Amino acid sequence: MKGEVRIQFCARCRKYRWPAVFHCPDCGSWDHVWKPVSPKGKIYSWTRTWHTFAGADAFEPPFVSIVVSLEEIPAVRLLGVLEGDEQNLATGAKVSGKAHKITVNGTVIPALSWTLD
Ligand SMILES: [Zn+2]
Repeated sequence: MKGEVRIQFCARCRKYRWPAVFHCPDCGSWDHVWKPVSPKGKIYSWTRTWHTFAGADAFEPPFVSIVVSLEEIPAVRLLGVLEGDEQNLATGAKVSGKAHKITVNGTVIPALSWTLD
């Protein structure tokens, strides 16, 4: 985990694949690369969580989860937690993301957090 956001890209038909797949559904290729993308986009959807639940132990409720449509690839939508000021929280609001690590049930996994621009 290098703090980058990478999206799977088919080496043959040159289309982004998200969620990632083993086998490209368009061209049948098994070859892909992971291309770095800018973690910037617009809020597609959001919700506020008021109670803790299994798997969300890394987050102190209440917290806001957002689904972001990437600026570079609008069809790709990534989930993460909103941090900082929420004054302009709304669908369509511009956000910037940061890749980092969190620990869930003792396992370190990659995660995204977002802030409103
Ligand atoms: Zn393909």
